[in-house]
Amino acid sequence: MAGILSAITLAEAGLTDFTVYEKADRLGGTWRENTYPGLSCDVPSHLYCYSFDLNPDWSRLYSPGDEIEAYFERVAHEHGVVPHVRFGDEVVSCVFDDGRWHLTTAGGVHDDVDVVIAATGVLHHPKYPDIKGLDSFAGARFHSARWDHGVPLDGARVGIVGTGSTAMQIVSAVVDRTEKLSLFQRTAQWVMPAVNPAYTAEEKAAFRADRHLMEDLRDSVAQLFDHFSDGIVDARSPEMAMIEQFCVDNLENSVTDPELRERLRPDYRAACKRLVVSTDFYQAIQKPNAELVTEAIEGVEGAGVRTVDGRLHELDVLVLATGFQVDAFVRPISVVGRGGVDLDRVWVHRPEAYLAISVPDFPNFFMLNGPNGPVGNFSLVEVAELQIGYIMQLVDRLRRADAREISATPEALERFEAARIDAAGNTIWASGCRSWYLDDRGIPAAWPWPFREFRAQMAQPEWEAYELRG
Ligand SMILES: Cc1cc2nc3c(=O)[nH]c(=O)nc-3n(C[C@H](O)[C@H](O)[C@H](O)COP(=O)(O)OP(=O)(O)OC[C@H]3O[C@@H](n4cnc5c(N)ncnc54)[C@H](O)[C@@H]3O)c2cc1C
Repeated sequence: MAGILSAITLAEAGLTDFTVYEKADRLGGTWRENTYPGLSCDVPSHLYCYSFDLNPDWSRLYSPGDEIEAYFERVAHEHGVVPHVRFGDEVVSCVFDDGRWHLTTAGGVHDDVDVVIAATGVLHHPKYPDIKGLDSFAGARFHSARWDHGVPLDGARVGIVGTGSTAMQIVSAVVDRTEKLSLFQRTAQWVMPAVNPAYTAEEKAAFRADRHLMEDLRDSVAQLFDHFSDGIVDARSPEMAMIEQFCVDNLENSVTDPELRERLRPDYRAACKRLVVSTDFYQAIQKPNAELVTEAIEGVEGAGVRTVDGRLHELDVLVLATGFQVDAFVRPISVVGRGGVDLDRVWVHRPEAYLAISVPDFPNFFMLNGPNGPVGNFSLVEVAELQIGYIMQLVDRLRRADAREISATPEALERFEAARIDAAGNTIWASGCRSWYLDDRGIPAAWPWPFREFRAQMAQPEWEAYELRG
């Protein structure tokens, strides 16, 4: 998504001498790699797409993953991105020397470039749980982002570890096919109720005939997300109270068995962890062949999962819906900046970047969806579009030969981090839960201000925050 966006934006600005490096053999990123049953975006499709290529053909309010992948592929083809892509080769190092970045790929290709845009993704490297005996499982076992479609689910006993959005989507999608579905829950989740109507042929025709209808829809969804962001960045706000009430009502009204309801009730506030948005998770987990397992996992054995109460949950398939290494960002690429500064060393405690985009001493190296930017229940397409608009203003200074090297100053990063950490304390993410938003210090690693503030910051760089050399 972000790489395709960069390519289109560069070409439109008349900068046609660029390469998109893609280690896989096709486009799609997240939407190529995740193919699990039930995969869907939980941001409405008319917002989760490029503003310059609205799509009248979205099938539903929230479209399934394969449709999103096809959308990005189509856009890339239609905008002439594909000839710029070097497929099937991984960038392994980027070294800044003598005013330029020297890129090396696993295939041994060396390229020298003026600017690097790192669009390597956020939820990209699967995270595997540390469970005793995992390798001894005799059935089929895979991570949700590495789904093995050769494994039959019909009539199988399926276990799912994890209760994030992915796990919930899988439960809803497969429960009716399985003989028995066991969901191993370490932490209960708040579930935001949703409906997911299909767009009718008439609605799609109207969208096609008048793009303003799509723009209006997009604007109204964006406004809703602005309210949502107002809520989560201020744990005491009325918006936050409303979000919580929706989730509490959903639990109360959807789960009939009081004992199951209490086991599904989180002991922390809604949206402290990334909210699950679902039309039917509660219905799915109440099916007679579904079981919510809340005893902790003791270990995995050949026949299944044993919980600490001594019970063996016999399984044919074990799905690890255990998320991603969210602090990797551009790594494991070895990135070495000015004066031999190694990004791995700079980020030894945790990744930081001024406005999520630039790191001091890494000139002309800009990130899309980099560390501490807006994450969570937002459209990362919208985020990336705002960021690339900002990055192009930095690139423009290089192009106009105002400077040969641009990177944030250490002071700007320090000030940004201090303000960010200060504001993070007010957010719902800091209200007392364990989540992937928190860094090693327990501080939310995310943009802690309203989304409109992000839009404002991205509109124009504050040039005092940058060091221009050469
Ligand atoms: C299951 C799931 C559901 C999601 N749902 C939502 C949602 O509802 N809303 C939302 O906004 N976001 C969602 N996301 C986040 C999603 O990742 C982003 O929205 C978006 O797809 C990120 O795009 P990207 O281009 O930044 O990264 P990616 O899609 O991860 O693409 C990065 C690309 O870079 C390539 N790459 C990485 N490193 C190298 C290298 N060293 N050399 C060459 N190529 C490399 C990868 O192969 C990949 O193709 C979801 C993510 C997942 C996993």
